[in-house]
This record gives sequence, structure tokens and C-alpha cells, in this order.
Amino acid sequence: MYGKMIEQLETEYPHMVEWRRHFHENPELSFEEVETPKKIAAFLRDLGIDDIKEGVGGRGITAKIHGSLPGKTIALRADFDALPIPDAKDVPYKSKVEGVSHACGHDAHTSTLLHTAKVLYNNREHLHGTIVLIHQFAEEQTPGGAKPMIEAGCLESVDEVYGTHLWSMFPVGSVFTKSGPLMAASDRFSITIDGKGGHGALPHQTIDPILCGSAIVQNLQQVVSRNVDPLQSAVLSLGAFESGGPFNVIPANAQILGTARTFSRDVQVTVKKRMAEIVEHTGKTYGARCTLNYEEGYPALYNHEKETTHVQRAAEELFGHEHSQEMDPMMGGEDFAYYLLDKPGAFFFTGAGHSEAYPHHHPHFDIEESAMLQASKTFIKVIQLSNEGEVADG
Ligand code: MN
Repeated sequence: MYGKMIEQLETEYPHMVEWRRHFHENPELSFEEVETPKKIAAFLRDLGIDDIKEGVGGRGITAKIHGSLPGKTIALRADFDALPIPDAKDVPYKSKVEGVSHACGHDAHTSTLLHTAKVLYNNREHLHGTIVLIHQFAEEQTPGGAKPMIEAGCLESVDEVYGTHLWSMFPVGSVFTKSGPLMAASDRFSITIDGKGGHGALPHQTIDPILCGSAIVQNLQQVVSRNVDPLQSAVLSLGAFESGGPFNVIPANAQILGTARTFSRDVQVTVKKRMAEIVEHTGKTYGARCTLNYEEGYPALYNHEKETTHVQRAAEELFGHEHSQEMDPMMGGEDFAYYLLDKPGAFFFTGAGHSEAYPHHHPHFDIEESAMLQASKTFIKVIQLSNEGEVADG
């Protein structure tokens, strides 16, 4: 019966495109989503689903499809927020909101999950277990929507959770994932350097925050090279160093901004601790007062082994062995990580690009829409394989 559902998705494809384009034309920023969740809830209600919750954890929507056959409770998640990036594409479905666009493809995630839900609901008499649909707000901006939705109970009684990201940098036609660490913990920090300003010709009367800040920049380079196990991964990058005014004045203070990316919690703790020590003690060496403000972002995303196998097998059986690919971990962050800290599951990338595709968050970003069909098929096949696995396991 799952084969028939997968066939029915083909018929849904034109609607998937239509709905994706509707969301694309009407993007809403993280934590400002109003019409998008309304539209999602209305779509699910129109299908006939009665178990729908709105305002979950803020702006999220959850809905349950109860299958007639016994089986697992499997959650599928799609995010629906857009970005403060102008839409520079010349397409009929271009964003109608100035300076805001779906430059990460969350419009397509939403349409994919809605039409997956449609097929699952229409075949509920042949469906195993319960499907929990998680339509998540605010993925793009910390603290994100995943955490409040989980706190509001969206994973209660869920056995497994799956999510996908359509990815323009991966070729359309294949699915990419791996077991274990997949995406990094993405933290941000600022360093404030309080010195003492004065005349450029009288440096002995000042505490120079530019000199002190430069030493901090240099000393921070030791963290990854000398404090992190060479077999582990970490990135520490500085994005801004702001200070100064006129050419002949030593300013009073300076600020440094940056990001740290790690996969292991131990490495993250080490990076944070060493940064704090270096900032404080370098400051003391120069007589300046320096403080590190380190904000942890989304945690690292770890895929669970068994559930990752379901995704890989689903892609193999649907698209062929060569289209189910093992990928390298990515240094980007994703709040799907929170779901996987709570429940077993897997996150995967669905190839949605071609050779001239633009990267995510680019004003010209777009996706190969047929990737939605592949993502949707993969979800349904995963539901089948996961429930079959359960029967086989006894
Ligand atoms: Mn995204």
C-alpha cells in the first residue's frame, strides 16, 4: 500500500509546486509568522484532519494522522520561516515582500510535508501507527522554534522523528545523510575591551584597546590549534573588530565579534573555557578590562544509527543505490538537533540543485522543485521501513 501512496504523490506534484510558490511569494520572518501557520492549519483542516493544534510553543502547528493499522508514532518536521534577504530572482513566483524571501527553501519543506500529509491521511486505513506533523516556526533565528515546540509537548509519545532540508548545493535526484554528527553547534560571541583613550602622541597615558584587541585576535588562534584534539573538529572565526575614530587618537574601547562551531560537547566546553581565559588574561597583560560574552546557539545535530539506516534504505529502494549518498558533516547549524536530543531519529538532505545553483541565503537562491517529490517519497518510505523493521524485530 505504501507503493500506491508513493504513486499518488506523483499526482500531487503540481499542487506541491503551486503551494510552494504561494509560500514563496508570501514569506514571513522568524517569530513574525502569522499568515503561514494559518494557511497550514487551514490546509490540514480542509483535508479532514481533526487532531490539529495551533500556536504550539508560540507559532507552531502540530497535527496527528491516526492510521488504522498498529504501528509506531512517527513525527515528520518541516520549518516554515523566511529570511531578511531580498529576492533578486526574475521568476513569476518572486517574493511580494520587500527585503524578505524564502532563501533557504523552507517554503518547499512546508509544501512537501502538507502534501505528504494529504496522501497519508487519504490512505489512513492502510497506514501503520500515528503520524505527527510538526510544522515549525523560526528555524533561522536563535533561540528557534524547535525548543519551545518540544517544551509544549510536540514529541510526547513520539517513537521516532525525521526531517529533511532541500539543498541547492547537492544535485537533485539524490538523498544525503550520515549517522552520528551531521551539523555543528553554532555559537556566537562578543569580546569587549575597555582601555583608556588619549592622544596618539602620548601613548604612555593610555591603555590602547587596539593593541590589546590585536593580541587577543592572535592568542585566540591557539584555541583550535593547541587546545582541541587534532582528531576533533572546531572552527573559531572572527567576523568583526570595531574600534577607533580620528587618526591621532587612541580610542577607549574596542569590540570583537565572532562564531565558534563544534560537534562534541567536550570540545565546545574547552573552546569556551580557553577563550574566556585568553580574553581575561590578555586583557590583564595590557591593563585593559576585557570580557567575553559567549552565547550558545543550536546544539550539534547527531543522527541516530538505526533511523539513519531507514532513510538510507528508503532512498536506495526509491532512487537506486547511487542516489543514497553518505555525506560529510556540515559546519552549519540547525535546530532539528533539539528533536534528536529528545527522540531517536534522523535528519537528511534532499538534493535540490544543479550545476549553476546559488547557495542558500543568497538573493538568487532557488530550488529544483522536483526535489519536493523526492523528499515526500522518502518520508513515506521511511514510515514503511520503520514499521516493517519493528515487525521483523519482533
Ligand atoms: Mn534552512
